[in-house]
Amino acid sequence: MIPFNVPPFTGKELEYIGKAVENNKICGDGEFTKKCNAWIEKKTGCNKALLTTSCTHATELAALLADIQPGDEVIMPSFTFVSTADAFVLRGATPVFVDIRPDTMNIDEKLIEAAITDKTKAIVPVHYAGVACEMDTIMDIAKRHNLLVIEDAAQGVMSSYKGKALGAIGDFGAYSFHETKNYSMGEGGALLMRDPKYVEDAEIIREKGTNRSKFFRGQIDKYTWVNFGSSYLPSEMNAAYLWAQLEMAEEINNHRLALWNQYYEELKPVRDAGLIELPTVPDGCVHNAHMFYIKAKDLEERTELIAYLKEHGVWSVFHYIPLHSAPAGQKFGRFSGEDKFTTRESERLARLPMYYKLTSEEVTYVTNQIKAFYCL
Ligand SMILES: *Cc1c(COP(=O)(O)O)cnc(C)c1O
Repeated sequence: MIPFNVPPFTGKELEYIGKAVENNKICGDGEFTKKCNAWIEKKTGCNKALLTTSCTHATELAALLADIQPGDEVIMPSFTFVSTADAFVLRGATPVFVDIRPDTMNIDEKLIEAAITDKTKAIVPVHYAGVACEMDTIMDIAKRHNLLVIEDAAQGVMSSYKGKALGAIGDFGAYSFHETKNYSMGEGGALLMRDPKYVEDAEIIREKGTNRSKFFRGQIDKYTWVNFGSSYLPSEMNAAYLWAQLEMAEEINNHRLALWNQYYEELKPVRDAGLIELPTVPDGCVHNAHMFYIKAKDLEERTELIAYLKEHGVWSVFHYIPLHSAPAGQKFGRFSGEDKFTTRESERLARLPMYYKLTSEEVTYVTNQIKAFYCL
């Protein structure tokens, strides 16, 4: 059986976790967390990056820093993971869903402006599959309407848009280091901030509302409770695991891209026969091979394809149930305009196995099964 996902492991993880234990520093914000934060800052050019316990929590932290209040509206795609909406629903805000573009499955930037009301506070672009949203247009709309941009870049580590790293373009960016992502720490994420004015509050909210970060830097001689807060910092053991991966980020990225390109080349004949669609990467977008998906004709054909692949030892999955059609989405959110592509395109999409340990031979095996399903 070729699994859908295997968590990334490069070899140094256990040594680094051991080091954290030997250092007697297993809570947060030790040597490994600092290394990971600095790596993200250097790689993306953001002003400040802070590791968090998840991308969900990074987005929650962004929603708190953005001062999202009950009754506010936040624009996002419906074709996304629940966390994108949860972070704002927790603050009492209403997610306003906008249709996606069928080529990238990203929010259709041309439909955003029509969804803006006097309650709108933020736009949350989700970079699906690590392929960037049309950020020039989105940043321009945000500027003209005085809105914040919070990038859900959970899938976008090592991706860029016109030379700028995803997650570092908007006011805030959220990364995920969940085990299904390109770089992992089991559960974890990071908040990226463009503007230094948010950094102090971010450090405080992340550390239970205390100014402990300042205390550890020797900037104050005792720490105390100064604001509301929560606990969004991960343990050093998780950060140590992640550091082993970030050190090898280029190797991991190159290997994934090679697998992605191989899928694309080997499935071209099926696409050229008009049987499936392959992913689109617009000009100016450098992606990170977070996922490889194909689109079948419709829901029925996709269901048959996934079952066929399973019978032949290949684990393929689909996602997402559009948020606006889920019970919580109906309760908390609303769809702006017409759902032309969100439901239709999501029902056609099947994800193929994609992970660091996947081999070229396995990719060929998978593409041969797909060709066989389509009688090619
Ligand atoms: C994985 C993912 C998340 C959630 O990440 P966690 O680290 O598990 O909280 C959020 N949004 C998108 C688009 C994701 O793919």
